[in-house]
Amino acid sequence: MGNNKLEVLSKVDLFLLDMDGTIYLGDRLFEGSREFVQLLKENNKEFLFLTNNSSKSSDDYLKKLSKMGIEIAKENLLTSGQATAIYLKSIDQRSAVSAYVVGTQSLKDELKSFGINVVGSIEKEDVDYLIVGFDTELTYKKLLDACKLIRKGVPFLATNPDLVCPLDGGEYIPDCGSICIMLENATKKKPLFIGKPSSIIVDVISKFKNVEKSKIAMIGDRLYTDIKMANDNGMISILVLSGETTYEDVEKFQVKPTLIYNSIKDIYEDLKILYRGVK
Ligand SMILES: [Mg+2]
Repeated sequence: MGNNKLEVLSKVDLFLLDMDGTIYLGDRLFEGSREFVQLLKENNKEFLFLTNNSSKSSDDYLKKLSKMGIEIAKENLLTSGQATAIYLKSIDQRSAVSAYVVGTQSLKDELKSFGINVVGSIEKEDVDYLIVGFDTELTYKKLLDACKLIRKGVPFLATNPDLVCPLDGGEYIPDCGSICIMLENATKKKPLFIGKPSSIIVDVISKFKNVEKSKIAMIGDRLYTDIKMANDNGMISILVLSGETTYEDVEKFQVKPTLIYNSIKDIYEDLKILYRGVK
């Protein structure tokens, strides 16, 4: 059994890491996370932290990780907001692409950094795309503007389908998916979702990192996003039981991961054996 796991791990050229429930919970870093990243760095293995949360920018996440003692480069992190920008630039190569954004200032700044012109007023400027994110600064005016644009036929993109976002203390607040359901009810139009579990974000990553999908492993704690996305796209899926999924859930759910580990620390222990062994 142990050898099987090492054999699967030996095929991985790029590790995608979910964040909440996989490397930390809220503000508490899991044991082994720092060592895991260090080991990958020492062995020149590619890795990418992946988050569907588009309310914060990649800089916000780099700072959060740094506070926890994990120092990574900007290229080692991808938010669904960044993936949306990369996707948009890949389907529309015009130099000036404009978007109306139902999202936080952080998301708007992130999109601008990719050269997307973020429109302030739909009355005064032309809009090529509507982008909806996890908008913790949502106003009724933004919903109204979004409805007008959707009715006009402006393409409707959304960063992530999550219905809720967990807060520390067990509360849940409406996420991008819930905002989109409101817009869908009002316009009868569905958005194109970019973040997990969409295959779009996998295509973005595979191209961006130049790694075949069969050599990418997704490590995460959610069967219906992390593991489903990996399995649907011919990737290796690694479930950790440190977040919201229990072993009993795995038995009940149709989606089965390639490998199951209790925590990131256990993956680290196996990788340590693997990398020392092949050296
Ligand atoms: Mg998670």
